[in-house]
Amino acid sequence: MHLKSLTLRGFKSFASATTLRFEPGITCVVGPNGSGKSNVVDALSWVMGEQGAKSLRGGKMEDVIFAGTTGRSPLGRAEVSLTIDNSDGALPIDYAEVTITRTMFRNGGSEYRINGNTCRLLDIQELLSDSGIGREMHVIVGQGQLDSVLHADPAGRRAFIEEAAGVLKHRKRKEKALRKLDAMQANLARVQDLTDELR
Ligand code: ATP
Repeated sequence: MHLKSLTLRGFKSFASATTLRFEPGITCVVGPNGSGKSNVVDALSWVMGEQGAKSLRGGKMEDVIFAGTTGRSPLGRAEVSLTIDNSDGALPIDYAEVTITRTMFRNGGSEYRINGNTCRLLDIQELLSDSGIGREMHVIVGQGQLDSVLHADPAGRRAFIEEAAGVLKHRKRKEKALRKLDAMQANLARVQDLTDELR
């Protein structure tokens, strides 16, 4: 499995559609300061489901939408598509090529798609969770982040190990099941109250 291409439309400084193609091996993005190199990395984490504006170096989520320049008006939406070569079947989906797309509108609405079909953020997270890539995987190491890895406390270190061991997905499922269980307990208590009242 490898990342084949990344297309940005209206994402941060990339007002016009821009596609970066990645070959197997190492890809280097070079350019002057402020030319948008980190924006490419932000686009990668955003399309994989990043929900924190701060992690994307912004104040609020809409900051990912092209805000305009002196010669160009702001845009109403940002869209990023990531195409992954899945010919080795690393992603649990029956396609040799998988394209994940995230769109965000200035009014706050957003959409996720897998190979053109609308889906939920959870579907994308589940799809990527066993692959070693994804929003919560530490595969994207931003400027200055190495320090936080080196200085992590024991709980932080455990989180890194759990992630490498693939425990994260099961932890999330457990949390979801526990939330459902809590809601069920509340319903049961309510039914018990009603039964008591009717006695
Ligand atoms: P450096 O080498 O200094 O780290 P860089 O190449 O990584 O720089 P980025 O941080 O990716 O550069 O890009 C910064 C540029 O992106 C700035 O010029 C900023 O104005 C522009 N930018 C960020 N968000 C938006 C947005 N929403 N709309 C338009 N431009 C934006």
